[in-house]
Amino acid sequence: MSAKVRVRFAPSPTGPLHIGGVRTALYNYLFARQNGGEMIFRIEDTDTERFVPTAEEYIIESFKWLGITFDEGVSFGGEYGPYRQSDRREIYKKYVGELLASGHAYIAFDTPEELDAARAAQDNFQYDASTRMSMRNSLTLGEEETQRLMAEGTPYTVRFKVEPGEDIHINDIIRGDVVINSSVLDDKVLYKSTKELPTYHLANIVDDHLMKISHVIRGEEWLPSAPLHVLLYRAFGWEDTMPQFAHLPLLLKPTGNGKLSKRDGDKLGFPVFPLLWTDPATGNISRGYREDGYLPEAVLNFLALLGWNPGDDQEIMTMDEMIAKFDLKKCSKAGAKFDYVKGWWFNREYLLKRPAAEVAPQFVELLARQGVTATEEQAAAVFEMMKMKNIEYTDGQSGQTKKRNVSFIADLWPLCDFFFIAPARFDREDKFVRKNWTDHSAEDMRRLRDILAALPDFEVETQRAAVDAWVAETGVKPWNAWRVCLVGQGKGPDMHELAAFLGREETLRRMDFAIEQL
Ligand code: GLU
Repeated sequence: MSAKVRVRFAPSPTGPLHIGGVRTALYNYLFARQNGGEMIFRIEDTDTERFVPTAEEYIIESFKWLGITFDEGVSFGGEYGPYRQSDRREIYKKYVGELLASGHAYIAFDTPEELDAARAAQDNFQYDASTRMSMRNSLTLGEEETQRLMAEGTPYTVRFKVEPGEDIHINDIIRGDVVINSSVLDDKVLYKSTKELPTYHLANIVDDHLMKISHVIRGEEWLPSAPLHVLLYRAFGWEDTMPQFAHLPLLLKPTGNGKLSKRDGDKLGFPVFPLLWTDPATGNISRGYREDGYLPEAVLNFLALLGWNPGDDQEIMTMDEMIAKFDLKKCSKAGAKFDYVKGWWFNREYLLKRPAAEVAPQFVELLARQGVTATEEQAAAVFEMMKMKNIEYTDGQSGQTKKRNVSFIADLWPLCDFFFIAPARFDREDKFVRKNWTDHSAEDMRRLRDILAALPDFEVETQRAAVDAWVAETGVKPWNAWRVCLVGQGKGPDMHELAAFLGREETLRRMDFAIEQL
């Protein structure tokens, strides 16, 4: 292991970044920052069949939004580049050559058809020590024939020669000593002549070595590759600089039943990608955390606790606190349920922490999409009045209508349309209106109107003093009827605050209109 902590996030640009990948990057980031180390962004694009051109840019944009920064890598530069594997072909060729020369790898000419035939002929066929001598490769054909076929341009692959019967130990920071017997491994393809490109395994190991990676922190789905990676390090004679592994627990469906998928998000109503993603091939759109109105710091805090906890009860943590407390050894081995409702909670906590003036621009945009022109001051005032309210939503699992706290700026719109749009008609069938607009309501509202009209100013406290005095004197309870006038329904903030927001003119206008209509 190198002395300096150097970690990498190494996505394959095959589509949008999954939220599990974001968590992997976050844990790498926390670990690097905690140890004064470096974090590298490497693009593993050797699988040309699955390559998606817009993916790299999407991933970079995602981290920019989230505020996860890299020290080196694609788009960041650095001394160990190039950091895009498709730009490193010549480097890999050299190392493939080394493995061939040392006898740790061999050349195989089996065509896809021949491989299919072998699989058809033998259940659980695996290209390994038990079968390789019956296949068409340099071990069975001999040096001369191999050279001849290569000179003719016959397509070939390079396979790693796994010696059977050996226990391979993976010393994993989270999982401890993981032992796998080499007999279960196949002779993995490391290089394909047709593409002049290595496969993931070879490129990954060569790059981790050359880029002086000290710790490989990645998803559990890569654990099965680890034994081969250990063997590759050994074959190259790089044992001394082998990184330490940490395989993170899977993110599970909210029910805990299996791996989290995009389908779960679609069904239950949460994104599994950081940003909105448009599939370049199909034009299909997938929702993203950013566009759904999540705050980046809420997303990171939420993700940090999916698979790790600091061992105390603290849930809300700043980035600095997470960096200080993060501990790979405290990561769980068991998968972490993706509790998206908890994600809403985190977003609410961070939304409430934000000064109203910072929330305002986004709220103004949201209002504009609803056809309402509002100033930032107005938006900030409405946010302050309404942020502690509840909204109704349809639960994705049960289909039931449930209530939750305002957790997103977008939650505010259905709660606050009346701030900007006066009731155009009154629904006499509405329960609140029926109950609260009674025989004497029109008369009460006329009186209230006159009191408000006569005030020296329209500040909340001025209104309150005058109205309270009138209420004390007469016993009239004007609040709900007044709400009918200004809102048209049984919702909204404190009436004086609402009236002050609307201003005297608009308040009186709405009252006159209601008196006339009702
Ligand atoms: N390219 C792999 C991925 O897409 C990297 C796995 C690793 O970190 O070794 O996640």
